Amino acid sequence: MSTMSTAPQTDFARCARFVGTLGLAVATLSTVVLVTACSSVAPAPGAVHSEAAPAAVTTELRRAEPIIEPWTYAGKIGECIDLGTHRLHSLLRDPVIRDRMQIFLPTALDHYRSAIIPLPAADGPIDVFLFGSRTEWLAYTRERLPQEAAMYEQIGRGGYTVEGDAVLYDIGRWDTFTIAAHEGWHAYTQRVFRHSLPVWLEEGIACYMEGVRAGVDGGPPKFIPWRNFERFGELRDVVSRGRLIPLGELVEGTPQDALAGGRTTLLGYYAQVWALVHFLNEGEGGRYRKGLERLLGDAVDGRIASTLWESRRAGTRNERRMAIGRQVGPAVLREYFAEDLERISAEYEAFVRAVVQRGNGEKIWRGETPILTPPAPASATSPTVSGSSPAASSAATSIAPVAPR
Ligand SMILES: [Zn+2]
Repeated sequence: MSTMSTAPQTDFARCARFVGTLGLAVATLSTVVLVTACSSVAPAPGAVHSEAAPAAVTTELRRAEPIIEPWTYAGKIGECIDLGTHRLHSLLRDPVIRDRMQIFLPTALDHYRSAIIPLPAADGPIDVFLFGSRTEWLAYTRERLPQEAAMYEQIGRGGYTVEGDAVLYDIGRWDTFTIAAHEGWHAYTQRVFRHSLPVWLEEGIACYMEGVRAGVDGGPPKFIPWRNFERFGELRDVVSRGRLIPLGELVEGTPQDALAGGRTTLLGYYAQVWALVHFLNEGEGGRYRKGLERLLGDAVDGRIASTLWESRRAGTRNERRMAIGRQVGPAVLREYFAEDLERISAEYEAFVRAVVQRGNGEKIWRGETPILTPPAPASATSPTVSGSSPAASSAATSIAPVAPR
């Protein structure tokens, strides 16, 4: 097996680059795949729709027992597993992935909705297409996205999300879950957020949501944002090779742009946006955390565009236009985080260098923040365990395999 077996995945979310100038997220086109959807689309028992909720309803959709029906694609008989929260259209051949995915996906969704701020439920199940082989995945991709299939082929082992549907294939018993967590975030935001996040943040949070420790004895996994060896390893590589992209440049780019520079560049991009979310979450003593919370709330409510448009600090008209229409550029950074881009860029770089300092791999393994607490008057040597990180007391700290293999 190649060394890529546990490498980070690559993907494109296609969030809002194909939608209106205000960056409204596409959430309705998923019905075009009716031919591949489960026939049972009845709401989950007990589902209650709240009329007041703006972008989505706060409903618990999860079924106690999945409804499983045959699902056929290209003459192959698979199954559609309706979990309430998700409909898993599966041609999987690996029974371990098949079984565990049924616990993994709803647990990941709970994590998305609580990891940073409380977020609403989707108004229906998220469709996840999970093929047993790359060949099947490619065939489906060429059918569904004929114009773009060639580009998706370039991403190597990976997946993508389109119109709120995640489209994946079996890339092994660890990586398949990682990419499901990542694409699951895109699928969720495409269905729930009225305005798309900036590309760098959408991708960064998707990577942030990948960090996980596998469940024990079939139990649910535990999501721990810092516990992401792949992104951490890439970040270390980026720094050691002197390839760190300055923040101002990072927020201008997209994964597609990065892919033009090759797979290494693409993985470097993901590692840096992953670190950027951690930075906004806890860097500089937490000074940017509020901005992150406000931005997520504005995405849900559809307030990003008007906020940027009316902002006096977001930048030039063109910068605001780019941020609203294409979700790139510095306007969001200025409006929600810091007007002084030079300062925040320097802080981010210092944060990244602190993250990858020698010895921090152990903390990543334990799922702890590698960032030291801000210097206290007397002693500043003990590492912080952030609120969302697990206590270091878990017995799993020294177990090597973190996923079913
Ligand atoms: Zn992504």
